[in-house]
Amino acid sequence: MKQYYLNLDTTTNPNADNEVHTSDCWRCPSYNRIYLGYWDNGVDAVKEAKARGYAKADGCRICSKEAHKE
Ligand SMILES: [Zn+2]
Repeated sequence: MKQYYLNLDTTTNPNADNEVHTSDCWRCPSYNRIYLGYWDNGVDAVKEAKARGYAKADGCRICSKEAHKE
């Protein structure tokens, strides 16, 4: 399992969504983020982010491409 974070800054990607990253992704922000916990994959981490009210959560195309839609 990996630790996942949600980027609260929506200006870092062209679709203005909240990107979900693993803790070891080079694009994972060091601040302005929410800790999502340990998950098996990006799909589950994105589900958790949506359950917390972030409807525009989307997997990072580098570390969570299984959950990357936009
Ligand atoms: Zn990432």
